Amino acid sequence: MRKAFTFANASSFKYRLIDEVFILSDEPWRGFGVIPSSGLKLREEYKSFDAENMIPVSVPTHEENKACICGEILRGLKIPPECRLFAGTCVPENPVGACMVSNEGACNVYYKYRLNE
Ligand code: SF4
Repeated sequence: MRKAFTFANASSFKYRLIDEVFILSDEPWRGFGVIPSSGLKLREEYKSFDAENMIPVSVPTHEENKACICGEILRGLKIPPECRLFAGTCVPENPVGACMVSNEGACNVYYKYRLNE
């Protein structure tokens, strides 16, 4: 049986330091939704250093195109040509989804090297 890793019981000083400052948090991941204990946030006693509390910025939420299947591609369930927008509506010069935006994006790389041609 595998034992779960925790910063608290790690022997290394750096991990104990991380545990002193941070606490695990449930975070959303593109294509995966919220994964329990997948992120870190500052513990209550360090909240005064939290930029989210210090800088009053409101970031507008972005509605993703419902035809974009980035999430399934990132999870390895589909490949870019299975998206009906791939290489038509969605190209690197006019990306619809995050997978086409950056040079490392799965759709961008697939488009650039045309792996199926
Ligand atoms: S980034 Fe573009 S091609 Fe890739 S899944 Fe989203 S819409 Fe389809």
